[in-house]
Amino acid sequence: MYGAAIIAQALHDLGVKVIFGLPGLPVTDIGQEGLYRGIRFISFRNEQAAVYAATAYGYLTGKPGVCICVGGPGVFHVMAGIPHATANSWPLLVLAGSSETHNGGKQAFQEVDAISLLRPHAKLVVRPNAAETIPKSIKDAYRTAMFGRPGPAFVDLPANLILGHYDIPRHVLEPYNEPPLSVAPDYRIRAVVDAIKSAKSPLVVIGKGAAYARAERPIQKLVEKTGIPFVPTPMGKGVIADSHPLNYSAARSVALKEADVVLVLGARLNWILSFGLPPKWNATAKIMQIDISADELGQNGGNPSLSLVGDVALVVEQIVDRLDGWKWEARSSPFSRSLQAGKEKNEARAAKKAAVQTLPMTFERAFDVMRKTLNDLSNPANGDIVYVSEGANAMDISRSIFTMEQPRIKLDAGTYATMGVGMGYAVAAYTAYNLTGEGSSGTKDHKKVVAIEGDSAFGFSGMEIETMARFQMDILVFVMNNSGLYRGDADESGRWHEKRRNTVAGTTTQGAGLTAWSLGYETKYQKLAEMAGGIGFEARTPEELKEATVQGFKAKVPVVVNVIIDQQADLPMDFSWLDMAPPKKEAK
Ligand code: ADP
Ligand code: MG
Repeated sequence: MYGAAIIAQALHDLGVKVIFGLPGLPVTDIGQEGLYRGIRFISFRNEQAAVYAATAYGYLTGKPGVCICVGGPGVFHVMAGIPHATANSWPLLVLAGSSETHNGGKQAFQEVDAISLLRPHAKLVVRPNAAETIPKSIKDAYRTAMFGRPGPAFVDLPANLILGHYDIPRHVLEPYNEPPLSVAPDYRIRAVVDAIKSAKSPLVVIGKGAAYARAERPIQKLVEKTGIPFVPTPMGKGVIADSHPLNYSAARSVALKEADVVLVLGARLNWILSFGLPPKWNATAKIMQIDISADELGQNGGNPSLSLVGDVALVVEQIVDRLDGWKWEARSSPFSRSLQAGKEKNEARAAKKAAVQTLPMTFERAFDVMRKTLNDLSNPANGDIVYVSEGANAMDISRSIFTMEQPRIKLDAGTYATMGVGMGYAVAAYTAYNLTGEGSSGTKDHKKVVAIEGDSAFGFSGMEIETMARFQMDILVFVMNNSGLYRGDADESGRWHEKRRNTVAGTTTQGAGLTAWSLGYETKYQKLAEMAGGIGFEARTPEELKEATVQGFKAKVPVVVNVIIDQQADLPMDFSWLDMAPPKKEAK
């Protein structure tokens, strides 16, 4: 048997339906052998986008997303996706070619010691030492990526093993349909239940681990039966519909600050959740984590003795059973009053920002138009749009404006705050929902994939528009164009760009008034879609944006809408929540 065929056959046996990658010697034939076996091969323009696609595919399907690349430089490009998968706890299987074993150490073609390079960053790294062990290496890596806390695994495939022909017996692998699941011991469930019953200000926090675990039904039951308020993390949105009256996302800071007993379901107490520590959280709060990884329990503000290891869907089911119909007395509670007040205040502030009528549009105004138009064109309750978003302002501001009524229809820069993921994610979502059907969100309809991109974030992998066009993916991309990073192309005093528009590039050391965060002034990103056979729009007014959204939604090709945004739209940016500067010293 041909080495590439052994590899493709192993993937096929494991149930792999799609490979993301970038072909090149010596891995080209693996993709082709996969095609002969009915495995799709989605080839990208850069390995980085391919590996990001594979990570998101893993998240959406619950099985390792598979990425194939060449050795050396290919490995360095896919490396970006490896800590990204670790940080997000998403299952990823990377297969890379490498130089021939007999040429090792001779400065061979694209030679690098990928095993040493990746060992600290992956759950498992393996290199089969003979054709006979290829299936087992691939199986071990696949299983390790998927079981326990999901993460990345890596298989190094020397060129001579891929390209050789071997007379060996066929090694049949069985697919893994579900990882092993565990529940918590009853006495620990009782302790958690007692803590919940003693709460004055209880809160449920829902993370993307809960979405990954498909825990929506038990978590909905928990919240419905107990009446406990909840807040989702960015990708935990939709596990319970955002429209649910107990969703206090809009009063998040009040919720974290005042809660006294908190159930954290599949979310880490990391920077996204302000560590579960003061000043954002109440120092005496009992924070009870439920996580598949025991290592995570007790991290930062977590209470290790009240936390539970196990599958979040099964453990929440256990808790609901033990609660036995208990309901939180919300009516007389000061907590519900402050939550309500916080929600109303924040919603009023958002409505005010969305109503700003000046041109160029603010982010809020543009998002408001896009949201209303997309909601009219689709059935939000069904979750038939998948939202991808990245970019500092584009992601942060859109997060609260676009609501999710279903789980796993929202992808963003994630735990590692990785920019450049958007195009790969969009391709992955399209593939999971519309091509292989391995994604799940309760429905099997064709989903529209909508990517909301900052102009900087889009630039990392804008060329993947061609990938979308080549595979006839009707993905709708909005580029929120403020001609720069963060606050766009304005300095603190305002309209710096006016100066740039009127000067010839290159007349100063920085070019014509370029700040450190400038990008090309009103770059025509829509042309990338036109280049590839898609459709491009430029939208400067709400009317143009609405029309482009309607046309873009209906199109059967990729669409880029270049949305011109006010460059001072969010001045000054507030990063205090990121906690980057050391805390201020108390005044004596
Ligand atoms: P978020 O970004 O939404 O806060 P995180 O990625 O920080 O979420 O946390 C997700 C957590 O979910 C991880 O700690 C991971 O171990 C956990 N997890 C993943 N799958 C399961 C599962 N089946 N059951 C319980 N926890 C899970
Ligand atoms: Mg920008």
